[in-house]
Amino acid sequence: MSGQNHMKLSFASRSENEAFARISVAAFVTQMDPTMDQLDEIKTVVSEAVTNAIIHGYNGNTEGTVTLEVELDGDTVLISISDQGKGIEDLELARQPLFTSRPELERSGMGFTIMENFMDEFEVVSSQNSGTLLRMKKRIESKKVLFN
Ligand code: ATP
Ligand code: MG
Repeated sequence: MSGQNHMKLSFASRSENEAFARISVAAFVTQMDPTMDQLDEIKTVVSEAVTNAIIHGYNGNTEGTVTLEVELDGDTVLISISDQGKGIEDLELARQPLFTSRPELERSGMGFTIMENFMDEFEVVSSQNSGTLLRMKKRIESKKVLFN
């Protein structure tokens, strides 16, 4: 793909919408001709981020809104996922592998670690009571280039 393209989706903080978000991003990113592995990584990251917004940000309250933006710029995918939920008190702690504030929900505390590993750049902005914004980038080297 050359040039730029973008999309934006807002949806209710319901767990049913996790699959909707994951599939929508995959469908949009397909125009960049990613490998199956790259697409699987992007889907996993969207799933982790949206799940966090729903279960942590909004505490399971289905009246919140999750916003998802994807920008394609040359060979780079930029994904932003935000909520206006409760925010993260201690970001450094939250980003540590295996840290979870909800062990009773059988969370493993690996969401942030997975997101960081699957993306080339990853940034979190959060403030208590106003919500959380994740911004991340991944470069997609086209399969076509590899065969040149
Ligand atoms: P897992 O993702 O493995 O199921 P987890 O969601 O607890 O477990 P992470 O995704 O790494 O683990 O998140 C770590 C912690 O950061 C969460 O337990 C939660 O306290 C906090 N957190 C993450 N995202 C948000 C968010 N959008 N709003 C509020 N808190 C969040
Ligand atoms: Mg998580």
